[in-house]
Formats: sequence, structure tokens, C-alpha cells
Amino acid sequence: MREEDAPAPPVRVELPDGSTATAQILAHIRLGPKGPWWCWLRLDVWSRAPVGDGTTAEPHSVLFEAPAAKITPIQGVDYSSVPRRTAPAPQRRKPAPARPPGDVEELKWWRFISRPGVHGGTLHRGDCRTSTGGALLSLREARLILDEPGVVPCPQCRPQDRVLQKPPDGTT
Ligand SMILES: [Zn+2]
Repeated sequence: MREEDAPAPPVRVELPDGSTATAQILAHIRLGPKGPWWCWLRLDVWSRAPVGDGTTAEPHSVLFEAPAAKITPIQGVDYSSVPRRTAPAPQRRKPAPARPPGDVEELKWWRFISRPGVHGGTLHRGDCRTSTGGALLSLREARLILDEPGVVPCPQCRPQDRVLQKPPDGTT
């Protein structure tokens, strides 16, 4: 039996409109090792189920979470069986680097998109939001290609601001 289907002791839970309902408490969940406590709850509501030519009312479980402060134990109920656990911290996605890590000349971070059938094309930074694809170039290659006829820097990401910079001392 799944945890959310198993019998669980009742608690009083305050709902957002200020009314209270009796739900079943499935678990105490701490949001991170030092985070606040929440409760995982199950509330039985009605659902309509077809039977023959008509319908019948059946209990239907709704699962939700509520801050522990909104929960009131019911006197005389034994809560020792309710598990306590820590939820994993939410994962933050790393944003794409806004510029290459370090100033590595050979890092293939620049993108060149050629124009089909025509000489030339457009040079972009690796994090340009207005384009995808193209050939990946190092900073050195990007400088060289910008010198070629028909090659223009992207007006959105302005790769020339960095490509035409002299490399910092200590890099080759
Ligand atoms: Zn661009």
C-alpha cells in the first residue's frame, strides 16, 4: 500500500478561508535541515462516479501540504506513527555563464552563423538569446572571422565588445 493510501491519524487543519477541516496527517516534513516544518495531509472529499445509468457519490482523497502552524492535534489521538523527515533542498538551476570562465583564448564560446549561399554571416556571443546553432569558435577564431568581408557582429549580443579587446596579459 502506498504511504498516501495507508490509514493515518486525524488532525484539525485551518484552511485559507479561516474555516477548519479534519484531515489525516501522513507525515511531518521539514524543508531543509534547519527549515520550517510542514505537514503532508490527506482530505477526503466527494467525487461523482458513474453507476449504471446514473451517478453515485464516492469518497475521493485529496493530498496537500500545510504549514505546521495551521495544524492542531486532536486530543487523545496518538501521532507516534506519523513519520518525520527532511525534504531535500530545492535545486536551483545554474544559469548559463554570461561570459566565458576566465579569458581562455581557445575556449569555443563564440558562434558564427553563416548566411546560406552568400559569403559572410553573423558572429554571436555564446549566450546570445536571439540565435542558436552555428559553428563554435574560439576567441582567436572569432577575431579573425570578424575581419572577413561580409561578417557582421550581432547587434543584440555585441560580440565585438569582447572579441576586439586585446587579450589580458598572461594569456596567449
Ligand atoms: Zn547575437
